[in-house]
Amino acid sequence: MNREHEPSIAASPTGDPYLLTPGPLTTSATVKEAMLHDYGSRDSYFIELNQRVMTNLVNMVNGQDTHVTVPLQGSGTFVVEAMIGNFVPRAGKLLICINGAYGHRIAKMCDYYERDYQIQESSEDVPIDVAVLNETLAQDATITHVAAVFCETTSGILNPLKAVADVVEKHNRGFLIDAMSAFGALPVDSTQIKFDAVVASSNKCLEGAPGMGFCIARQKALEKTQGNSPSLSLDLYEQWVTMTKTRQWRFTPPTHVLLAFDQAIFEFLEEGGVAGRGARYQDNCNTLVQGMREMGFRTLLPDELQAPIIITFHMPTNPEFEFDHFYNHLREQGYVIYPGKLTVAESFRIGCIGRLGEQQMRGALNAIRNSLDSFGITGKVS
Ligand SMILES: *Cc1c(COP(=O)(O)O)cnc(C)c1O
Repeated sequence: MNREHEPSIAASPTGDPYLLTPGPLTTSATVKEAMLHDYGSRDSYFIELNQRVMTNLVNMVNGQDTHVTVPLQGSGTFVVEAMIGNFVPRAGKLLICINGAYGHRIAKMCDYYERDYQIQESSEDVPIDVAVLNETLAQDATITHVAAVFCETTSGILNPLKAVADVVEKHNRGFLIDAMSAFGALPVDSTQIKFDAVVASSNKCLEGAPGMGFCIARQKALEKTQGNSPSLSLDLYEQWVTMTKTRQWRFTPPTHVLLAFDQAIFEFLEEGGVAGRGARYQDNCNTLVQGMREMGFRTLLPDELQAPIIITFHMPTNPEFEFDHFYNHLREQGYVIYPGKLTVAESFRIGCIGRLGEQQMRGALNAIRNSLDSFGITGKVS
């Protein structure tokens, strides 16, 4: 017997509320349907499918001749941690560019793994300062690697990936990228940007189900990481060697997640890859920001720093506005938003990624208008 799903007013084709969050996200009905099969990890169909997913992922960075995909079970954080543990050797030193919670999380990983590190921090609404980075690398030859977050999901800010990569390359250090919330929507092209590793997951802009991450590594850099990993299950080198030899994952693969991921990538390619997906998200972002501004909401970031992924809005100061009621009221209307995670300001966030388009963005704006009306805020919120 199926469990009853809670009905909501605006519902996706499978009756679920729309997720305007940084993940997990709304997926297409066909992606969900792809999971209705059981495959053993040695099944030849599954092995072919797995191979196709890995190849498609490396193609997304234009790295078919130089790079390899190493998948990993778990949420996105697992593969970020795996990247840090594998690529920064015990005697290495990592410079972490931080402007949000995900950068801080990388520093915490270094604490756990006892890897030497240094941080270059800017405020959550300020992008990475490339001149400062250049200066630091020029002065400190002990720094072996630099880590940066592409879209810092904490605020939704877009960091200047290409400029950072160019400085790191100029100083001949390894570059490690957390592109979790942008991969698939914003280009990460290995022929334009030099990096040792980039990580992302199945369930953000690629619109698959949550449950696995992947690392796309420059093969020459990955080959040098044997024995670095302080963790058995997060050892990307061993995962890669095993998969190269046996075409299988080292431990139980998340088979259903891979079935969904293969379908999700098919839909991604049909949409026109990064260009097509990025354009839909940009439209979503524009619709949302414009509609919210018309109601009096203010964005944290100026438009030129805003990635089309998730938007941070200042918390209104109207005494009638109450966030928990607002959140619940939107949820009842079928739209799930996200609380803020900033330290600089009271805020909340609305995502524009996942299987959402113009219709869902307009629906969310209408629901927000309804909520303001229900608070007795009839004009603009302040
Ligand atoms: C989502 C995200 C992660 C991973 O988060 P999980 O909750 O572990 O999936 C890491 N970095 C960034 C920038 C993210 O947006």
